[in-house]
Amino acid sequence: MNPSEQHNATLAARDLRHVWHPCTQMKDHEALPPIPVRRGAGVWLEDYDGRRYLDAISSWWTNLFGHANERISGAVAVQAARLEHVMLAGFTHEPAIVLAEQLTALAGPALTRCFYADNGSAAVEVALKMSFHYWRNCGQGGKRRFLTLSNAYHGETLGALSVGDVPLYREVYQPLLLPVITVPSPDCYGREAGVSWEEHSRGSMAVMEATLERHAGELAAVIVEPLVQCAGGMRMYHPVYLQLLRAACDRHQVHLIADEIAVGFGRTGSFFACEQAGIAPDFLCLSKGLTGGYLPLSAVLTGEEVYAAFYAEYAAQRAFLHSHSYTGNPLACAAALATLEIFATEPVLERNGMLAARMAARAAPLSSHPHVAEVRQCGMILAIETVRDRQTREPFPWQERRALRAYQHALSRGVLLRPLGGVIYCMPPYVISPEEIDLMIDVAAECVERSCAP
Ligand SMILES: *Cc1c(COP(=O)(O)O)cnc(C)c1O
Repeated sequence: MNPSEQHNATLAARDLRHVWHPCTQMKDHEALPPIPVRRGAGVWLEDYDGRRYLDAISSWWTNLFGHANERISGAVAVQAARLEHVMLAGFTHEPAIVLAEQLTALAGPALTRCFYADNGSAAVEVALKMSFHYWRNCGQGGKRRFLTLSNAYHGETLGALSVGDVPLYREVYQPLLLPVITVPSPDCYGREAGVSWEEHSRGSMAVMEATLERHAGELAAVIVEPLVQCAGGMRMYHPVYLQLLRAACDRHQVHLIADEIAVGFGRTGSFFACEQAGIAPDFLCLSKGLTGGYLPLSAVLTGEEVYAAFYAEYAAQRAFLHSHSYTGNPLACAAALATLEIFATEPVLERNGMLAARMAARAAPLSSHPHVAEVRQCGMILAIETVRDRQTREPFPWQERRALRAYQHALSRGVLLRPLGGVIYCMPPYVISPEEIDLMIDVAAECVERSCAP
């Protein structure tokens, strides 16, 4: 055993004495210890044994331009030497100001105000509270419920979990959650043979429309993940649904919250996913890629009408008093500005178009695999839905933990893939090379083989 290998094992053992990991049954680590990462470069992570892993899921969908990106690291270092943090109540700083200017400019004329928080779930909480509070300030305090889509995911804090619908995360906490109204997702996986994405998504508007009609008086907002329900298994739908939903929300006087925490910043092919539908939401939630995957930060963008409903003499008690200690942290804002600078100075979306086409071509043969029900793609997200029976689309029993087999096989091949149940997906940083795409997709194909073997 060489010394660096020892170091790997030692760190894992020390970790397990005190660190309680997220989204993990800690007992699993008896057989499969956590991998200590020494450094990153581009799409690669390197552990203490010197083994390298291609980060094909962008470290939970946060990374855009690679690990240890020189431009972003440099910007954070400069900011750290100048000002690490100051509270954003009563004080402000240039990175927060410039970032708000740039985000509102990118989001279009309807979204002019930027409220900061420090993670995705917190942004969802802000949007929910702001929507409810807006209606209350307008004398419509009865509008206090939220409408959500089946299979939605909006984070793990209690409000965000309430508007989510993935049983794995939600079920245990059900007794603690807000009562919400849930309608079927426009997700196209379940469409009838021969029906286009557009027809299917359009068709699922009927229930949404009827529900809005019936409950408008008590609804504050509808919340959706535009185009891709990521944590729900990378389920995808057509932009026409967002268009129809925008119009229906206007007709029924219900806010539309777009949670672009996972899909914003070029992931789906456009800068924001909502652009593909040509709509603006009333609240736009951003996080994850916002800082290029560097630091926790989130923002909720909204418009003048919402802002004005809170703007009054102090004694009117209409202000939005929500806050987090690290709201608008300068280091995180500096990382975000460096990230936006890369978008502004490089042809990122064009390059992503080419990379996405390469992913599609390399993965195409998988669609005829006997255990693959669908290969679907939206921009830089490619998902392979594996099933026990291709005809009935019956999934493998979850108890068999086939995703874990896929995860382990990918690691052994130097690729980090972390399937969502039967869905093996790739969501790489945008700095991935064509050759690295080939490796990533080839390993994903091996994972399909391994995880579907008897
Ligand atoms: C990840 C995610 C969240 C939650 O963000 P956190 O920073 O993990 O709290 C919310 N909504 C969507 C769509 C997400 O993918």
